[in-house]
Amino acid sequence: RAKKSGRARWQFFDATMHSQAMTRLTLEDEIRTSLAAGDFVVHYQPVVTLADRAVVGHEALVRWQHPQRGLVSPAEFLPVAEESGLILGIGRAVLAQVCTVLAGHPDAPGTISVNVSAVELARDDWAQLFTATVERHGVDPARLVVEVTETAVLALGTVTVANLVAVRDLGVGLHVDDFGTGFSSISLLRDLPVTGLKLDASFVADLGDPLSEDGRGAHALAAGLAGLVSHLGLAGVAEGVETEAQAEALRGQGWSHGQGYLFGRPAPWPA
Ligand code: C2E
Ligand code: MG
Ligand code: MG
Ligand code: MG
Repeated sequence: RAKKSGRARWQFFDATMHSQAMTRLTLEDEIRTSLAAGDFVVHYQPVVTLADRAVVGHEALVRWQHPQRGLVSPAEFLPVAEESGLILGIGRAVLAQVCTVLAGHPDAPGTISVNVSAVELARDDWAQLFTATVERHGVDPARLVVEVTETAVLALGTVTVANLVAVRDLGVGLHVDDFGTGFSSISLLRDLPVTGLKLDASFVADLGDPLSEDGRGAHALAAGLAGLVSHLGLAGVAEGVETEAQAEALRGQGWSHGQGYLFGRPAPWPA
């Protein structure tokens, strides 16, 4: 009996693994097809000043306009896109669309930020391709910001650092995304030519109740990081701001900028 159920369980796992492998391959295939068809589109979410809600820029966020499933969010395809290398094509498509928007809207407010993955930054021709695209569109590099997460640059390989320094030298901004979620966020500020940081949404979510234990910790951390940001002369953007109470708390702590559903959801341009 034990043997029988063991065998049944094995068959169950085997079938699951098989279907996962199939899904992954299908997904990879579909991404490749959609890339060729131009089905990766960019939505833009405003970044505002917390003091007067003026729009100072936008973040470019990729979406997959899937022929059957509709708009698919990055969480569902980025892991496979990164493992397969297809993220390189997605990244190029996003940058081209962003540059088209910037070139077509010389008076668009502020900057547009693009997210870049570790896989892209590990390519020794990444900065060169980025620069060529920006120049081909005749876009002022100062209107662009590159966002990197700590995990993306954790190893800080020489290629990754060279790529980031190269676009910084061009005049592109460099923001550390999801700040505070990793272990070495602080050392990134020392080792990279960073121009800004984005406080992770998880800190902002915990600001909800300042009297709870989580709330007190979150308040102290967010306030301390706001001080760090201003001492270093960096731009500070709090992410995932959903309520007036959060916006008010962040402003009081010294955060200059915010991004979140309270101010505007990601949407096609004109954002
Ligand atoms: P991220 O760069 O930290 O982007 C912020 C995420 O928070 C976005 O999710 C955005 O839609 C969401 N968000 C904004 N405001 C709020 C809010 O008030 N509440 C909540 N709950 N969420 C909010 P999204 O668009 O699903 O993107 C997820 C992640 O995928 C991004 O996190 C970024 O790491 C990655 N990503 C997005 N676009 C690209 C891209 O073009 N290239 C690469 N390599 N990664 C990208
Ligand atoms: Mg980002
Ligand atoms: Mg983030
Ligand atoms: Mg994120």
